[in-house]
Amino acid sequence: MDPPSINNKKILLTFDVEDWFQVENFKQCISNSTWPLRELRVENNTIELLDLLADAPIPVRATFFILGWIAIRCPNLVREIHQRGHEVASHGINHDLCYKQTPNVLRRDLIKSKGILEDIIGSEVSGYRAPSFSITDDAINSVQEAGYLYDSSYNSYEGHGRYGALTQLKNMQQDLPLYALSPSFYEIPVSNLRIGNRVIPWGGGGYFRLLPSFLHLAGVKQILLQTGCYTFYMHPWEIDPDQPRINGVKPFYRYRHYVNLSSAKNKLEKFISKNAGCSFLTCREFIEQWPS
Ligand SMILES: [Zn+2]
Repeated sequence: MDPPSINNKKILLTFDVEDWFQVENFKQCISNSTWPLRELRVENNTIELLDLLADAPIPVRATFFILGWIAIRCPNLVREIHQRGHEVASHGINHDLCYKQTPNVLRRDLIKSKGILEDIIGSEVSGYRAPSFSITDDAINSVQEAGYLYDSSYNSYEGHGRYGALTQLKNMQQDLPLYALSPSFYEIPVSNLRIGNRVIPWGGGGYFRLLPSFLHLAGVKQILLQTGCYTFYMHPWEIDPDQPRINGVKPFYRYRHYVNLSSAKNKLEKFISKNAGCSFLTCREFIEQWPS
């Protein structure tokens, strides 16, 4: 018998487009009011990512959850992402966590961030990702009410401390790549590795930078065989080892932000080429192909 194959499985590459000074780990040290004074590096880093995807050995389409604050300053970048065949989606406006916003403020943020992106690309925006996966039962209802087709903010790993939770999915004790929360609204969770009852963070970000490539790839294979799809996330600043260094950050946060920045780009390239038998789709395409 042939060994189980990952060919024709699906991979959803997702990128949260925000700059190095907008991350939660630095919030204590960098106030929003200083953002306009900071060096904007997100444009170059995102173009580097787009070029990397264009140079992949197979066609790769990805989803870019873009911060409204960035979209307003870099509309050409948003258009470039769209024109290269990738999906443009929302990451909110100012990277405020869902559970720290009042319901009204969150609702405005969801509607406004969608509108900013739609005005730039001239077509509909379907997806939303909460900053730091800070989704809640209340917030997900607001995402649906704001007119999105899907949310991609649920992370089943509970050890992070900043992630939110969705009771309905948490109680299922398993990981599916897609949940139909209603006939016209979906959740695409970030992938984690499940071994017995343990959930191990395997979806990307700092965990991806920490893991040696061979180990990450082995876990991805396991997830693909178990669920048929792997949803991965990363940020443009994660391939930028030359970004400014910030003083006064707690050592743990400093480590989490800066670890292995210089090897992340090569690791991403390798991850894509080693899985060249898979289909790399946008989140929206994945929903459209999902058996109803
Ligand atoms: Zn973010």
